[in-house]
Amino acid sequence: RGVVGVLALQGDFREHKEALRRLGVEAQEVRKREHLEGVKALVVPGGESTTIGKLAREYGIEDEVRRRVEEDSLALFGTCAGAIWLAKEILGYPEQPRLGVLDVAVERNAFGRQVESFEEEVEIKGLGPFRGVFIRAPAFRRLGEGVEVLAELGDLPVLVRQGKVLASAFHPELTPDTRLHRLFLDLAGL
Ligand code: GLN
Repeated sequence: RGVVGVLALQGDFREHKEALRRLGVEAQEVRKREHLEGVKALVVPGGESTTIGKLAREYGIEDEVRRRVEEDSLALFGTCAGAIWLAKEILGYPEQPRLGVLDVAVERNAFGRQVESFEEEVEIKGLGPFRGVFIRAPAFRRLGEGVEVLAELGDLPVLVRQGKVLASAFHPELTPDTRLHRLFLDLAGL
C-alpha cells in the first residue's frame, strides 16, 4: 500500500516491517527522501541513534520528515534509538543530529549502561499491560506542554505521545504483541 513507511537506514527495521505485516500492512522501506512520497505514517526503529541521525541528515530525510510533520501530513512512531532521534533535546549530546519534533529532553541509556537489557511489564494507558523490552533504553524527561505520558517505568516516562508523534523507550517490535503498532496506525488515521 505504501502509505506506511519504516526508516531503513540502520537498526531493527525488519522487525517493525514484520509487526506491521501481522497487521496486514506492507510497509515501504524508506532509505532516501523520495521514498517518503505518499507515506502517511513512518516508523523509526531502534538501533544506534547517532548513526540513524547522521544518515538521515546526509540523505536529506531529516529535513523532509520535519517539514511533513510540521505541515501535519506525517505521523511518526520512534522506538528506542528512533525515539531519541525524534526528540527536541538529547541530554549530554547537544551536537547529535536529530529531528526535534517531539518536545522532550531524552536521556540516552537512562537505566544505566551496566543494565544492558531487561524486560519489564509496563501499563499502557488505554491498552493495559504490555511486555516492555528495554535495550540500553532511553527515558523521556522535561516533557513539554503538549506531551502526554502513556506509560512509565518507576517514575520515568517510557511511552509518550504528542499529537501524531508516538515514542517508546522500549521495543514493541521485539514482541509478538502488535497492539502498539495498531495504536500508531489509529493515531495516523490508517
Ligand atoms: N542506546 C541506543 C542509542 O542511544 C539506543 C538503543 C536501542 O535502540 N535499543 O542510540
